[in-house]
Amino acid sequence: MNGREAISTLLIVLVVFSYIGITMAEPVEKVRVIVTIDKSNFNERVVEKVGGQVKIRYKIIPAIVVELPESAVKHLEKAKGVVRVEYDGEIHILGRPITQPPQTIPWGIERIKAPDVWQITAGASDGVIEVAILDTGIDYDHPDLQDNIKWGISVLRGRISTNPRSYIDRNGHGTHVAGTIAALNNDIGVVGVAPEVEIYAIKVLGNGGIGSWSDLILGIEQALLGPDGVLDADGDGIIVGDPDDDAAEVISMSLGGSSAPDSVHDAISEAYQLGVVLIAAAGNEGAEYPSYPAVYLEVIAVGATDIDDQVPSWSNRHPEIVAPGVDILSTYPDNTYKELSGTSMAAPHVSGVVALIQAVYYNNYGTVLPVGTEDDLTTDTVRGILHTTADNIGDSIFYGYGIVRADLAVQAAIS
Ligand code: CA
Ligand code: CA
Ligand code: CA
Ligand code: CA
Repeated sequence: MNGREAISTLLIVLVVFSYIGITMAEPVEKVRVIVTIDKSNFNERVVEKVGGQVKIRYKIIPAIVVELPESAVKHLEKAKGVVRVEYDGEIHILGRPITQPPQTIPWGIERIKAPDVWQITAGASDGVIEVAILDTGIDYDHPDLQDNIKWGISVLRGRISTNPRSYIDRNGHGTHVAGTIAALNNDIGVVGVAPEVEIYAIKVLGNGGIGSWSDLILGIEQALLGPDGVLDADGDGIIVGDPDDDAAEVISMSLGGSSAPDSVHDAISEAYQLGVVLIAAAGNEGAEYPSYPAVYLEVIAVGATDIDDQVPSWSNRHPEIVAPGVDILSTYPDNTYKELSGTSMAAPHVSGVVALIQAVYYNNYGTVLPVGTEDDLTTDTVRGILHTTADNIGDSIFYGYGIVRADLAVQAAIS
């Protein structure tokens, strides 16, 4: 093909395309009508004559369906043998739309006023603030949790495994705790205190809810090492709040025992020195003091309150702070939800608030707040903020500094 032939071929193609373009740009609007006829008097050819096409010929009624230009309808109506012309219309299923039960905000989440800060904390914790939940594992594919489970590991009986089957929760306790901290803010189920925070599922308790101190130490160690298995990947001496590291900033322990080996305290002290905020359930024995590890000064011991702000008789005395822990609705394995009671349910409310505090602080200042001490009353540390912003409504023997307040704590952290 020479140059001239090529140009004329191109021109022909262009002409053909522009012609197609014109015809397609002006489609004739066609309508469907149901035409009732007097069969003895009607000849189908009139349909063609007015520019229509017969689409259906009924057998049980004297009628046909015709597709024709809208403008031709009036001509068809006047045709011989046509009794009636009716426009076709739309029908639809009569089942009522299936509505998911809307998301419920559990009373404890409302009580500590967590929803008030979700706008402030939105997007603040991305990739830096993680909460390690040391428990019976987590149902990691629960639709109200899945997106927040960043990593999981089992350390049961000293054997470390990151196979998801090893840390799945066959008890329900760990999944419930996880939901109070970080159930997703969507249109299903419940919502947690910190619905955007990322979670590490560290299984230190077996499916019967029982474990050993040696496994707890291993679980604390894994929370510090994180998924990459290294304490300080960039060697800058900073572990928590370091985007180059993956250590958990918060360790949540809804577990305890009546006494513990000193090596447990050593591991807890190590995590505390590195700047990890440790939170534990005070225990449910109605005892004078929290159980281990909550009783250690480095650990925030959390007691329970009910919907009337009362401390139940079983919540151990002398907590550092209290939080909702009676009839708490949260996530449960196999895509379900359940109400449970215990200081195990109270502790994750505080863990969630600490995650919110560290997330907004990091977002504003590029670092996290120091942990602080059990008697701190400044607003320069996590514990100081928790202490000074709690609802101080009763005897400290029962309430400690009071009922945790997410809204006031977050405001204090960024002011
Ligand atoms: Ca939800
Ligand atoms: Ca690491
Ligand atoms: Ca580092
Ligand atoms: Ca981290």
